[in-house]
Amino acid sequence: MLVMKFGGTSVEDATAIDRAAKIVAARRERRPVVVVSAMAKVTDQLLAAGEAAGTGDSHKALELSRALRERHYATAGELLGTGLFTSFHAELESEFDALDELLRGIAAVGELTPRTTDLVASFGERISSCMIAPAFAARDLPAVHVDSRACIVTDANHTKAVPLFPEIDLRLAHYVRPLLERGQIPIMGGFIGSTRDGATTTLGRGGSDFTAAIVGASLGAEAIEIWTDVDGMMTTDPRVSKDARRIRSISFDEAAELAYFGAKVLHPATLLPAVQKDIPVLVLNSRNPSCEGTRIIARAPRCRNYFKAIAAKRRITIVDVVATRMLMAHGFLRSIFEVFDRHRCPVDMVSTSEVSVSLTVDSTEAIPEIAADLEKLADVKYEGRKAIVCLVGENIRGTRGIAAKVFGALPDANVRMISQGASEINISFVVEEDDVDEIVRTLHKVFFADPDPAVFA
Ligand code: ADP
Ligand code: ASP
Ligand code: MG
Repeated sequence: MLVMKFGGTSVEDATAIDRAAKIVAARRERRPVVVVSAMAKVTDQLLAAGEAAGTGDSHKALELSRALRERHYATAGELLGTGLFTSFHAELESEFDALDELLRGIAAVGELTPRTTDLVASFGERISSCMIAPAFAARDLPAVHVDSRACIVTDANHTKAVPLFPEIDLRLAHYVRPLLERGQIPIMGGFIGSTRDGATTTLGRGGSDFTAAIVGASLGAEAIEIWTDVDGMMTTDPRVSKDARRIRSISFDEAAELAYFGAKVLHPATLLPAVQKDIPVLVLNSRNPSCEGTRIIARAPRCRNYFKAIAAKRRITIVDVVATRMLMAHGFLRSIFEVFDRHRCPVDMVSTSEVSVSLTVDSTEAIPEIAADLEKLADVKYEGRKAIVCLVGENIRGTRGIAAKVFGALPDANVRMISQGASEINISFVVEEDDVDEIVRTLHKVFFADPDPAVFA
């Protein structure tokens, strides 16, 4: 079997959903499970509605919800035609009524918790999957809607819940496998799950990719296909550099580093389940389905170039902890990391000197509280609006002088922290967020002036 995931832009309107149906039809023999995102921008709008309700502005919240309702009704009408839409209308209506009721409830309490945030955000995928199933069925595909919340069991870490695998295996075997055995095509919403007690959770922004990988690994898929709006994984974000080239194939390790350091085309957790079961992941363009895309596999072919790609992660904060009185004290680093751990705040980069530690984190909301806790240990400064640039490639391993080449290409950049060696396949450093696009373009020109045709298209 095969997992096919369609992202927001690949289901953004009736035309896109129709295109997705054709792509699925062409792979019907391979027994696909389809995972869909919310329609483009819907999750952002739902979160905005939740926030408005949280401040007590029920008018704005319901206005946003009304616009979403109209967009989905119009799309469903176009996809299904009047006759079919009439029979399906009640289902869509009851979802939107539930959303409105929830928003009114949040506004009445005047507080938006992570738990209610997840519930609000879940409507995007609940509704898209519920609409796409009959749309596919109307196009002669034996599609059946499956509520992902019945299958993707997670912990209760709302807004970035962690999947619980043994439980998920049992649920997918119960709800999804029999459909495949009957020749049906299960249609599941990405991103959403639920705790064992039935509280709705989400896997973090961009999490539909992760859902696809979880389902693929659990059901033993032959491949996991991520259908998106670009030709594959590119040498850098094509929105930043128009010179970006498609990568024909890349290793799991390289792609995971890129996803972690900001290549939004894949959610950073996507590759873990695929690696564990050695399932190839393909990144493909739903607007250009005949393009081969990018193949992410255990071992990538040799490449003439130093790097496979350059990624950038924005909205980074540097935290500097200076502790002269803790000079060489043992247990000091542990006490610092414990603070970040307590706030569930992941640290990306670390550099230390005898008296100070600098770290980067990408969540800004928690910083003032973290700093307050760190001040009990040492002097603390933090500075936002930074970005991490990350160059990735397996050739870094064992090649001399690469760092000199990278920084030699950037004589004027204000480079703050540098890290090389942690994974042996990346060089990363911190710069001002305002400079990051220019730096990426410069590096791209230098390192991809002569791309290896065996690896890059
Ligand atoms: P989807 O809605 O299909 O999940 P996303 O918007 O999450 O799509 O991811 C696709 C986008 O990722 C592209 O439009 C592109 O701008 C961005 N992107 C960032 N880095 C890369 C990269 N290295 N290769 C391809 N796309 C990238
Ligand atoms: N709809 C969710 C988001 O926008 C999940 C996804 O699209 O992957 O974050
Ligand atoms: Mg995405």
